[in-house]
Parts: sequence; structure tokens; C-alpha cells
Amino acid sequence: MTSVDLGIPQVPTAWRSRTLPAERPAGPGLVDRYGRIATDLRVSLTDRCNLRCTYCMPAEGLPALPRDAVMARAEITRLVGVATRDLGVRQVRFTGGEPLLRGDLVDVVRDVAALEPRPEISLTTNAVGLDTRAEALRDAGLDRVNVSLDTLDPDTFATLARRPFLERTLAGIDAAARVFDLVKINAVLVRGVNLDHAADLLSWCLERGFELRFIEQMPLDADHSWDRSAMVTAAEVRGLLGRRFALAPDDEPRDGAPAERFEVRSLATGQRWGRVGIIASVTEPFCADCRRTRLTAEGGVRDCLFAHTETDLLGPLRAGATDAQLADLWRTAMWGKGAGHGMDDPSFTQPDRTMSAIGG
Ligand code: SAM
Ligand code: SF4
Repeated sequence: MTSVDLGIPQVPTAWRSRTLPAERPAGPGLVDRYGRIATDLRVSLTDRCNLRCTYCMPAEGLPALPRDAVMARAEITRLVGVATRDLGVRQVRFTGGEPLLRGDLVDVVRDVAALEPRPEISLTTNAVGLDTRAEALRDAGLDRVNVSLDTLDPDTFATLARRPFLERTLAGIDAAARVFDLVKINAVLVRGVNLDHAADLLSWCLERGFELRFIEQMPLDADHSWDRSAMVTAAEVRGLLGRRFALAPDDEPRDGAPAERFEVRSLATGQRWGRVGIIASVTEPFCADCRRTRLTAEGGVRDCLFAHTETDLLGPLRAGATDAQLADLWRTAMWGKGAGHGMDDPSFTQPDRTMSAIGG
């Protein structure tokens, strides 16, 4: 991995001059010492996946966790219940690995939808197999779906995902479009592979009313081959799309969302076609507004994708911890959240876990 210092501050200036509180306040939320409050929970349901995207997993896959190391349905509901009832979490996104590989996914969604207060529930998926389950997931309480799709070309898909499953992903997207009001598509661009496909992918999404978001590739690949000087940047994506579309910053407040959103209009007529988002996690980090907390498939709290430590909640839960004790462990874990992911710091090191193992 090459580390290039682009001089982008990771710690907002206001924070540097402030005296940070030494002790965690007694309040109910997942607050950290920089004053951020996490209300958005990502839950990884499994470390397994049926694709092998080059930026996420090694070609040979990763050793699967033993079945009993992964949170069971009742354990997920219990921990999400603690998060929503006691810790102020309002949004829950299920991810993985590939969450559709869990046979009990519909039941997990139904259980979480029955919690009081009910969180907004969404899913990030590669959509392989979604065609047969989209309706059941909606009926169980799933509110929104984000599907990952990097290209519409079958060969490029097979190169990037190392599996020839484009048709299956597209069938899943069709089903999602029939069942859900809004489908978002996530795409990672890799130089020399699908960079030239970005504008076509956007056209395809606009025609179907999908909101496409390009995500900068982060150093979370198994092969540790990420190279900052070679990655496709948000600025480059804006320039590339600008040759085919007129992009104007979206008026809606960003409200902590990671994507910078643009209105997409026709270059010739100015007619509005839809929206596109660009998530510049590397070059324009939004750590200062981060509202996320994460649970790994093994029930560990991570305060950041790039954290090197986790706080185990599943062990204490299985050992008989009360909800209040679990909530306290979770609060303590989030209190220690760093100011930023530190990618521009020369001492930055990539976490051992890949995106698939953390839960993206
Ligand atoms: N398997 C599901 C999927 O692909 O949508 C959910 C898990 S996947 C880890 C979640 C998201 O992380 C996907 O949109 C994927 O494109 C993204 N992702 C994976 N590795 C990444 C990386 N190194 N940098 C940026 N995004 C990545
Ligand atoms: Fe699997 Fe999603 Fe990672 Fe691709 S990005 S390998 S689909 S977990």
C-alpha cells in the first residue's frame, strides 16, 4: 500500500483547539468525546459471500466463521433492541458479507420491525437471489434496499466480482424495483476495469429511477493492494460524469449522509433526469459528521470501518449480561471513537479485517 499525504486534515480544526471531555457523560446516547452521536447502526449478518469482489475479498475467499460464532436471530434482535430502545439508534442497515445468504433474513427483518421504537430498516446486498425474496422482505418490514452493481458488462462484472452473476444481480434489481419505492445502487470504480463504464451505469440508473452512488475505493481489500495514488477519486468521477451530464449540487441538506448528491440534467436541454451521489470517504472524509456504529457478524462493536479494536457484546450477552450492561459496554466503546479514519496520517495502517468481514 502506498501512503500519500495530501494534507487533508483528519481532525477538524475546531476539535484541535478544544479541551476534550475526559469522562463519558451519563446520558443515554452513543456519544463520543468529539460530540458526535451515533444513530445509524450497520449490522453484519454474515461474513460469507457468494461473490469475490476484488476490492473486498480474496479470490479464494476467507475462512468462514464457525456457525456458533455468528450472532443468531434472537441475539441480533436483542442487540438491535438495546440500540434502538436504550441508545437512540434510529436507522438499522443489514449488511455483510452477503446478507441474503442468511436463510433467516426475512425473520430477522420481521423481528427488528416489531421492536419499539421501530427503526428504519434497510439492506445492502449484491442482489443475487433477491428476485425470490424481495416481496417477503418488504412484507416483513424492510424499508429500503441498496444494491451493489459496478458495471453492466457481463465480462467486466465477472472480472470484478470473480463470478459470472450479472444476470442474477439484474434479476434481483428488477424485483427490488417492483417492490420498493426507492432503489439505490452502489458502485465502486476501479481504474483500468470499469472506470469507463461510469457514465453508462448512470444513464441506466436514471432511466429506471434508481439513485446511483459512486463510492471511493477504500483500503479494506484482502490483498492489501489498494494504492491511493491509483484509486479513482471523487473529483475524477465528477469530471468524468460532467462530460456527459450537467451536474449541480443538490439543494437538500446533507444531514450527515456520506454521499454528496448532485442533480443530473441534460447538457443540451437542462432537463432534470435525476440524482447521483458520490461518497468520497478517502479524499473528502466526512468523519466529523459520522453517525455510525457497527456490529460485526460476531457481535463486536466497531466505532469505525478503520478501527483496529472491537468490543465484544456477544460474549457478555451469552454470559448473561443485562440489557443495561450491554448498553453500557456499547456506550463505552463509542466514547473511544477516534476523530477520523486517519488515512492521511503516515502511521495509518489498514485494518486486518476486510470490508466483507467488517460489514460495509
Ligand atoms: N455483499 C453486499 C454488497 O456487496 O452490497 C453487502 C456487503 S458489501 C461489503 C457493502 C458495500 O461495501 C458494497 O456496496 C461494496 O461495493 C462496498 N465495498 C466493499 N469493499 C469496498 C472497498 N474496499 N471500498 C469501498 N467500498 C467497498
Ligand atoms: Fe461480497 Fe459485497 Fe464484498 Fe462483493 S462487496 S465480495 S458482494 S461482500
